Amino acid sequence: KVHVEKVNKSYGSNHVLRDISLDIKNGEVVVMIGPSGSGKSTFLRMLNQLETPDSGTIVVDGFDISNSETDINKVRENIGMVFQNFNLFNNYSVLENIMLAPVELGKLNKTEAEKLGRELLDTVGLADKADANVKSLSGGQKQRVAIARSLAMQPDILLFDEPTSALDPEMVGDVLDVMKDLAKQGITMIVVTHEMGFAKQVADRVVFFESGKIQESGAPDQIFSAPKNDRLREFLGKVM
Ligand code: ATP
Ligand code: MG
Repeated sequence: KVHVEKVNKSYGSNHVLRDISLDIKNGEVVVMIGPSGSGKSTFLRMLNQLETPDSGTIVVDGFDISNSETDINKVRENIGMVFQNFNLFNNYSVLENIMLAPVELGKLNKTEAEKLGRELLDTVGLADKADANVKSLSGGQKQRVAIARSLAMQPDILLFDEPTSALDPEMVGDVLDVMKDLAKQGITMIVVTHEMGFAKQVADRVVFFESGKIQESGAPDQIFSAPKNDRLREFLGKVM
């Protein structure tokens, strides 16, 4: 489903991704961990073509997105992204935020989009907030709306970049619970997070980024109980 081979990316003299190769299967939940500045966000943004690699190959759903001839809009429709800061439209209602993309892109008509939107709000525990203004919501509620909005495009793959980092501690659990449910439903998820409990519980695979390289990857049991890489051991010593 996602095939990444020998991807490199530099910003000026800063070599941010170094020969990154990674394959992700359908339905797999991959959690990416690593220190600040190690390239995790850059890597995610590349999967969504918010950044282009300097070299290497990225194939998503059979589309070679490292090739500039590929219709990226087709690919993006199939990949949702949830950001740390929600990126919602503050002057619209909750339901309008969710309906916007599928209607604008002609994927659903308004009636269908509203029906799906209400179902998704139910899924994320916010059925009663459909008509509320986004501005009136808490951070945790906003993030659950953002997840519902991504799901409204019915993507095969969901990317999460530190979805709980901007939340008050008491809101984190609600958002992680929604993500756990999604993982159970079999959606392919790539999640950058500092929530090691989530990684242990939900990940099929944990990938450790450091200095622009994948230093180690493996099942959560192995990564957390028997890390091999010195830098991973040092990192876990700091965050656990
Ligand atoms: P964090 O945990 O702090 O979010 P990260 O692992 O997500 O870190 P990235 O955001 O991918 O790290 O950044 C990797 C490196 O690339 C950093 O040195 C950062 O300063 C640099 N960088 C990222 N985006 C840009 C950009 N648009 N222009 C220039 N440099 C950038
Ligand atoms: Mg980041």
